Amino acid sequence: MFDSLSEKLGGILDRLTRRGALSEADVDAAMREVRRALLEADVALDVAREFVDNVRKQAIGATVVKSVTPGQMVVKIVHDQLVATLGGDAQNSGNAIDLHAAPPVAIMMVGLQGSGKTTTTAKLAKRLTERQKKKVLMASLDVRRPAAMEQLAVLGRETGIDTLPVVAGQQPPQIARRALDAGRLGGYDVVLLDTAGRTTLDDEMMNEAAEVKRSANPHEVLLVADSLTGQDAVNLARSFNERVGLTGIVLTRVDGDGRGGAALSMRAVTQKPIKLIGTGEKMDALEEFDPARIAGRILGMGDIVSLVEKAAANIDAEKAARTAEKMRKGQFDLNDMRDQLQQMMSMGGLGGLMGMMPGIAKMKSQIAAAGMDDKLLKRQVAIIESMTPQERRNPDLLKNSRKKRIAAGSGTSPEQINKLLKMHRGMADMMKAMGKGNKRGPMAGLGQ
Ligand code: GDP
Repeated sequence: MFDSLSEKLGGILDRLTRRGALSEADVDAAMREVRRALLEADVALDVAREFVDNVRKQAIGATVVKSVTPGQMVVKIVHDQLVATLGGDAQNSGNAIDLHAAPPVAIMMVGLQGSGKTTTTAKLAKRLTERQKKKVLMASLDVRRPAAMEQLAVLGRETGIDTLPVVAGQQPPQIARRALDAGRLGGYDVVLLDTAGRTTLDDEMMNEAAEVKRSANPHEVLLVADSLTGQDAVNLARSFNERVGLTGIVLTRVDGDGRGGAALSMRAVTQKPIKLIGTGEKMDALEEFDPARIAGRILGMGDIVSLVEKAAANIDAEKAARTAEKMRKGQFDLNDMRDQLQQMMSMGGLGGLMGMMPGIAKMKSQIAAAGMDDKLLKRQVAIIESMTPQERRNPDLLKNSRKKRIAAGSGTSPEQINKLLKMHRGMADMMKAMGKGNKRGPMAGLGQ
């Protein structure tokens, strides 16, 4: 699906990576081309603009890491921005189907006729049955098209999933309630409600979906959207999200030759995750949506991305060694503190791994005792960044008037600055003690 976009981005970035140095004008020119490539791939205008602005800002602000060319840095920044636009890291993107509710958990499927809704309902039922060992019941709520009801029944027989028997004359909300009752009585874990679609976006369909939602109170409302329809799929998602309320999106026909814009715009426009993608007509052609994998597919420059990641890790190690040296000399200033705090954030915050910096494990307990969470970490960094370089090197300069200025600059209060300074003194003292107490250097005693 992403072939054409992939080819264009590849060409633009390839040219950049072959250059030794990059000027701001080079980056700007490349970003104009990236923007054009995104628009040609049907990415929504706002999304393309924001994408390019973010990349540009990061590219201009980035310190180029040793052994990596500026162009390669840009590739990595574009890659990371693609992942972020597609929904971020898979674990945190909220793209798993949420079944955390009392059974039977209702999942409602909405979308246009022909988008692949009924097929996706059966695929999802099969997936939940096989992979998560759930007992699933499917119900068709399409009272206008007996053929749609029959189609779900046929798919049910084909996949061995139960379907709710059809009772003539019932309205969709009634069928939904009957399905949930049958789900409860029959000991089902999940009830999938396949609502009626129309060929175009219309009020009647929206009202009906909203009514079913009210009566069934589903845990998930998934929009099934055809990726081949590009911008239309994005508009559809926006309307459904506003009128009915979605919890996620399933993009179908990703195996087709769509231009990929829908995948890139959906999340940004609706703030709802793409949870699954349909990759074929067969019943097992349904995959989890993994932003990093899709970004890799779009960019196809995985080796450069990992090269830059490795180089950045080396830089962190060098920084750690420099900090260790400063610790030994008792010169731990606010710049060092900021580096430590930022490193903690980049390693997944306080909950993450903290093996990188010497002494950090000890510091962790101190920080936790001070009641710090990730939001606080960010605030501390903001305070330090509002200081002048001199102040960072010499915190003794910080008298009341300077504290007021920094508080205003960082949106905090002088008390919060005092807290930060106290913490810095605590860290510096601890590090000095660690540095002195060990003749072989501060790192030797750790990790034992
Ligand atoms: P509905 O009207 O939205 O319920 O759509 P259907 O479920 O009947 O699907 C319409 C057609 O699209 C069927 O022929 C499906 O096999 C096909 N289809 C659904 N999902 C996919 C997909 O991810 N890839 C491909 N290639 N075809 C799909």
